[in-house]
Amino acid sequence: MRGCFGGCTFCSITEHEGRIIQSRSESSILREIEEIRDRTPGFTGVISDLGGPTANMYRLACKSREIERNCRKLSCVFPDVCPNLDTDHSALIGLYRKARELPGVKKILIASGVRYDLAIRDPAYVRELVSHHVGGYLKIAPEHTEPGPLSKMMKPGLSAYDRFKELFEKFSKEAGKEQYLIPYFIAAHPGTTDEDMLNLALWLKRNGFRADQVQAFLPSPMALATAMYHTGRNPLKGIHRDRGETVTSPKGLKQRRLHKAFLRYHDPENWPLLRETLRRMGRADLIGSGKRHLIPLWQPSGTGLGGGEGARAGRKHGPQRLLTQHTGLPPRTDGGRTARGPSPANPPADRRPQRAFTQGSPCGAGKRRGRS
Ligand code: SF4
Repeated sequence: MRGCFGGCTFCSITEHEGRIIQSRSESSILREIEEIRDRTPGFTGVISDLGGPTANMYRLACKSREIERNCRKLSCVFPDVCPNLDTDHSALIGLYRKARELPGVKKILIASGVRYDLAIRDPAYVRELVSHHVGGYLKIAPEHTEPGPLSKMMKPGLSAYDRFKELFEKFSKEAGKEQYLIPYFIAAHPGTTDEDMLNLALWLKRNGFRADQVQAFLPSPMALATAMYHTGRNPLKGIHRDRGETVTSPKGLKQRRLHKAFLRYHDPENWPLLRETLRRMGRADLIGSGKRHLIPLWQPSGTGLGGGEGARAGRKHGPQRLLTQHTGLPPRTDGGRTARGPSPANPPADRRPQRAFTQGSPCGAGKRRGRS
């Protein structure tokens, strides 16, 4: 499958793969799975991802070819799912079922990102996904919680996330599985203010998420957000000589580090920077040891001396700890090895997701876009 009709402004998939989805035939995909099974030495029976740029856009399209040809909208799903979009996931459900039935295939996972505002339109798909294709954790990409940045990203509001979470938990319970959602967020996207990042940090704390790796926006070729970043104008609202919406982008090491620090509010290394910022913002009421506080007043000894999130630590500046992971693996327990998902041998320390981890792709594991 190629293409994406999501149109997220920080991503250029729609620009270089097209907005109209090109879907492979079912038989072609099944044949490839059989080839993987037959030709891969040591194949364990697990297909790590049956997805695409976005996992659940297979065979989805505008209801009318004629309208689709002439439509100039940037996205079929923003600001809301277009009434002309066919959101019936039955072709994908059928594919999942046939793939699962192939001899020698034990498990088919979906590691590409799921467009959850589409998925909630077809609860039967969510049931199928959650019951058979989640390996303990499912990546989804709300990207932010605040309407300001979300409108610049062309991403749906949190109500769609809440509905998806509800379905995810309901179907996981029905299937008798303990599974977690891993939400991804972007720091320092054009249109994001310090207040937006503070509100996102408070949301993360309220919902028990601790981001292990976080990613900050970097302007990349062909992305609309890049135009916002460089021009300070909002191309989604039309560009005119004397009017139009202006967009402020977090720039410079200091502000970008601060936005990342908000995402990793639980890291003591970031506390000095966050304390200073909260006082400057008039939000010193969030410093303390209570549940309503974001960070404590005390500092563990030996921490907070390195400059916080994103402080320079390359060869020139000292040792650097790399944490990048490339597959839907559970959070690391140390700097080098990865822990396997929930299992009797390796149970999660807490029944709630203690650490969310962000990695490679926001909307799909295969996507590359402007983030660092
Ligand atoms: S009419 Fe709607 S569904 Fe059809 S191409 Fe345009 S935005 Fe997409």
